[in-house]
Amino acid sequence: MSQQPQTPRRIGIMGGTFDPIHNGHLVAASEVAHRFGLDEVIFVPTGRPWQKEESQQGHRAAVTSAEHRYLMAVIATASNPRFTVSRVDVDREGVTYTVDTLRDLRKVYPDDELFFITGADALENILTWHNWKESFELANFIGVSRPGYALDATHLAEHLKTKPDHALQMMEIPALAISSTDCRERASSDRPIWYLVPDGVVQYVSKHGLYRKDHT
Ligand code: ATP
Ligand code: MG
Repeated sequence: MSQQPQTPRRIGIMGGTFDPIHNGHLVAASEVAHRFGLDEVIFVPTGRPWQKEESQQGHRAAVTSAEHRYLMAVIATASNPRFTVSRVDVDREGVTYTVDTLRDLRKVYPDDELFFITGADALENILTWHNWKESFELANFIGVSRPGYALDATHLAEHLKTKPDHALQMMEIPALAISSTDCRERASSDRPIWYLVPDGVVQYVSKHGLYRKDHT
C-alpha cells in the first residue's frame, strides 16, 4: 500500500534566552499559533546567547545556566498540548545564533512550514544577526508587538523585496509590559513575580534561589 504524502505541518519557533520564561513569551506564542493556524510552537532556549554578556570569574553568571532556563521553559509550557521545548541550542557548543537554530530544526522538519516568532525589539536589529539572509530562506518570520518598541519593518523592506509577502508578517498581540530583566530584578530584591510568570516558574525560581544576589 503506497503511503499518502502528509500535508506539511505549520510549526512556530519561539527562540529566547528565557531567563526566566514569562507570560509575555507565552501570550506571543499562543496568539501567533491561533492566528496562523500553527500545529505546534517549539520554544528554543538559547545555549549561550550572542548578544548577552558572559559570566565573569568571581561574579554571578550574567545568564542563568541553560539547564535551569530549559527546565523553566518545560514547566511553563507543559500544560499546553501544542507547546514543546527543544534542546537544539542548549546542546550545541558555543554561542547561539538563530541561523543555527533554524538549520537544525529544518533538518528535523524538512517538509514542514517553519515560522520564527520574534518580538518588536528583536526585529529592530535583525540586520545585525549572523547570516540573517539565510534565516529568511529557512523560515517565515512573524514579528509581534511589544510595549515600548515600534512594530516596524521599513528597515527590512529593501532587503525583503524579492521575497514572497509571507516572508515577514506582523501581528499586534495584547500588550504585556513584562521582561525577563524585570523578573530577575524583582526576584533579586524579594519583590513578587507572581502572575508575571507561570506559577510553576515562581516556585522553581524560589526553590533554586535563582537571581538572588548570593546565587552562584
Ligand atoms: P531580557 O530582558 O533578559 O532580554 P526578554 O523579556 O526580552 O528578556 P527574551 O528571552 O530576550 O525575553 O525574548 C525572547 C523573545 O520574546 C524575543 O523575540 C522577544 O522580543 C520576545 N518577547 C519578550 N517579551 C515579550 C513581551 N512582553 N511581548 C512580546 N514579545 C516579547
Ligand atoms: Mg530580550
